[in-house]
Amino acid sequence: MRYRAEVFRMAAELLLFSQDQQAYSFNKRRLESYRDRAHHRQLLSFLEDISGLGPGAWENYREEYGYIVENTRGYDIPLWESSFRSPGQTLLDKNTLAVQECYAAWGLELRPELHQVCDHIGVEFAFCACLAGSGLREAEEYCGEFLSRHTVFLLRNIVETLDSLERADGERFKVTELFRAMTEFLSGIGVIEKESGIGVEIEAPSGERIASLRSYSDKFAALFFREAVKSLPFPERLIPSSGNNNCGSRCRFLARTRAGNILGFRFDSERTPFIKYCIRGHHYHETFLSHRRIRYPMKRIGERGEGKFRRISWEEAIDAITGEWKRIRDEYGPASRYVMPGSGAEGTANPENLAKRLLALDGGYLGHYNFYSTACTAIATPYVYGTNFTGSSSHFLGSSKLIILWGHNPKESGFGAYLTDDLVRAKKQGIPVVAVDPRHNETIKLLDGEWIPIRPGTDGALADAMAYVILSEKLEDREFMDRYCLGFDEAHLPPGTAAGESYESYLFGKQDGLEKTPEWAERIIGIPQALITGLARRYALSKPAALIAGYGMQRHSNGEQGVRALAMLSCLTGNVGVEGGGAVGTGHIPGFHIPSFPLPVNPCGVSIPSFLWTDAVSRGREMSARQDHIRGRDFLESPIKMILNLAGNTLINQHSDINATVEILRDTEKCEFIVVSDLFLTPSARFADILLPGTSFLESPNIARPWREGDYLLYCNPAVKPLFESRFEYDWLTEIAERLGLYDEFTEGHTRAEGWLESLYEECRNYEEELPPFAEFAKEGGYFYKQKTNFIAFREQREDFERNPFPTPSGKIEIFSKRLQDFHDPAIPALPRYIPGFEGPEDHLTAEYPFQLTGWHTKRRTHSIHDNNILMDRVESPAVYISPEDAEKLHIEDNALVEVWNSRGTIRIRAAVRDGIMKGVLAMSQGAWFTPAADGADIRGNINAITTLAPSPLAKGNPQHSNLVNIRGL
Ligand code: SF4
Repeated sequence: MRYRAEVFRMAAELLLFSQDQQAYSFNKRRLESYRDRAHHRQLLSFLEDISGLGPGAWENYREEYGYIVENTRGYDIPLWESSFRSPGQTLLDKNTLAVQECYAAWGLELRPELHQVCDHIGVEFAFCACLAGSGLREAEEYCGEFLSRHTVFLLRNIVETLDSLERADGERFKVTELFRAMTEFLSGIGVIEKESGIGVEIEAPSGERIASLRSYSDKFAALFFREAVKSLPFPERLIPSSGNNNCGSRCRFLARTRAGNILGFRFDSERTPFIKYCIRGHHYHETFLSHRRIRYPMKRIGERGEGKFRRISWEEAIDAITGEWKRIRDEYGPASRYVMPGSGAEGTANPENLAKRLLALDGGYLGHYNFYSTACTAIATPYVYGTNFTGSSSHFLGSSKLIILWGHNPKESGFGAYLTDDLVRAKKQGIPVVAVDPRHNETIKLLDGEWIPIRPGTDGALADAMAYVILSEKLEDREFMDRYCLGFDEAHLPPGTAAGESYESYLFGKQDGLEKTPEWAERIIGIPQALITGLARRYALSKPAALIAGYGMQRHSNGEQGVRALAMLSCLTGNVGVEGGGAVGTGHIPGFHIPSFPLPVNPCGVSIPSFLWTDAVSRGREMSARQDHIRGRDFLESPIKMILNLAGNTLINQHSDINATVEILRDTEKCEFIVVSDLFLTPSARFADILLPGTSFLESPNIARPWREGDYLLYCNPAVKPLFESRFEYDWLTEIAERLGLYDEFTEGHTRAEGWLESLYEECRNYEEELPPFAEFAKEGGYFYKQKTNFIAFREQREDFERNPFPTPSGKIEIFSKRLQDFHDPAIPALPRYIPGFEGPEDHLTAEYPFQLTGWHTKRRTHSIHDNNILMDRVESPAVYISPEDAEKLHIEDNALVEVWNSRGTIRIRAAVRDGIMKGVLAMSQGAWFTPAADGADIRGNINAITTLAPSPLAKGNPQHSNLVNIRGL
């Protein structure tokens, strides 16, 4: 029995890393000290003999220990019972509960301070050691059988798992041999020895005595277990919460928990019938409570980006971050410090804003403006209307006579709480829906809409040709144009503007001799001119008609011009400010007041377009206001030297041209220090110098609200405790604040993020009287307003223009923009004229790269979140979509392996041959985790392996849908 216990102990010690690192670190001294203990020494030499491992091999175990237990390389090595028992390989689920119940039945409970998940196989070994070493007086038969079953389960799974593994360098894990030896050793022990001692009675809740153990004073067991509460069954709780990922919708759900485990999620269909708990929500458990989580703080030990780390303590991590934080501030100035914009976690306590707050208090940072998703529209729209609040509440769609969704796919991307439902309702009412998109997307399918496929990036040409038809056939709302618009025709140009500069002159070729006819557009956009003419007539004659532009159509090299051209259509037809119509633009809708984290003014007062951060790393001092549109300074004073990338994957995965970005970040003389806090060893996290384990929304509190439209606020109640040593970003930032002498300023007395959330929420109640007190709000998991938003952008202007001019310099919709003319840049014209963007269908590069590759936001991921969840591959497996005509021409069959490439990179992926994709166009959903093979080709389907770092002209936004590529079968 004692031998058996010793074997279990050794196995446990191999697999566990106690909080008390002094006592349980896997170092040579500790192992040597084992040799003084008779049992251990004997056993160890026996195992060394049978496994062929000499004493020196223990050194190797330390490195392997990092791979296997600490997850220092992102290896997918399951070490949890749950992992073996559930297809999702999850933690804190019903399997974990079963393990806990088993411990409890034997009178044991895992020590909470261990931060270990209780079904870790190391803990299971410790449990077995404890039982075996305790010596059974009664119930030994039961215990013996239990131990035998466990032995088989544990060792078989461990040995088989390790057996199947190879290290990155192709060698095998040496520890496999040891475990194999242990298995053989254990299976050679037959009968359980009977021992005597003072017993501890263990009872089931029914009062039935199930075991009597000698003692649990075993020192080893005491490190992991304490005497159990005999409180079976653990009570069940329903915890209301919400996701705070950047998903576009946000619904309320209930997490069913027992003893700190989540047994399931239930969508709250009564409270939020308008938002569907989407497919991602059904897979929260496998995504966020995965055994692949980053478990401990880590420090880079290999080359940057190599993904090699070693575990460190939180203390060591905080010291290292604070040291570099100060050094870089003092050496290069505070504006050399940058916080990456994220597409991961959102909410009131957004990690990006938390970090900016501390940096602002500490002298400042390099800020950024605009976002990857919306840069072109968010910058171009205010030049037209003076604001980005150009949307209308989607329930007004019921008053439309025609709905055109232009590059818009809300079924997959979310886009507010109500839009998809309201579209379905409108369709049921009989309102026709037309969709302009290179792909026959999920929303078109859902609505059974008419699909008009156009080539990516040619939206402006289609809009211009439609405008030409409307004007030629005198279908325009001339009265609206004359009254509200500047620069439509020669009579309404701003004073001092040269003749021939009006939009009308542009359309009819008065300047360039080129009329923007449907025939002209046909060659560019790839659809018959009759279709263009028909669409123009239908839009102009259906009154009112809603044209809603998505964000996909503006993520192009000429995205700003596309937005302006579409805005023209809503003006020409007089749909602006009309119920059931609407202005085309960014489409924001003012909603209820929301609690937001106080962000002090950045003392550096300088910001860059968010997409240009790699430029700020590689050529920072050359960046200027004139050329790069930096704000607040003429030139940057320093390149970026420190990056904080918190709860986001933009550092590598979501940025363009990953291969070029990798080269920039690999150079530690450029950006000298990178901190990443995340859940997984993502492609971005691999580039950390210090890597911190963050918490998911299931583990930390927040306040969430949907994008764009949604009359509610949600509270993310933590449903489980943080996994392993994970910490919410606020917790460690307060420690840095303390070391910087800024604790009081940073926290304002709130030691935890919860305190901030409560006080910001209570402040919000001063604006929104309907909101209940915080305690009620948190208990309910949110609040749903009785009032509903009823917003139609520019309704006031239509009703009383004299009192409500447009918030532009002229007070009118600026079709001709003097402010844009002042850029004196042909790529930024004063009029919304069509300019072929780079890497569009008219680029000379088409000779070499004849296909346009476009991306989309898939229901399978929220940006890059959920890509770790392979069960979601069933929803959409990695693929490049190609039309049957193109596939046939290139002899590519459905599901065949293909290579998509251009000068920036290569992607090897399966082909999905489908009707719903335009000829000459390829499509690949965005957000897959960049996974380079040995030759550098991405094998997961990350579109950014081949997107470009060249920005759009005005917004300097990302043109991730403008890509010319080639494709071939392999
Ligand atoms: S991703 Fe958004 S819509 Fe989907 S379940 Fe989560 S919060 Fe709800």
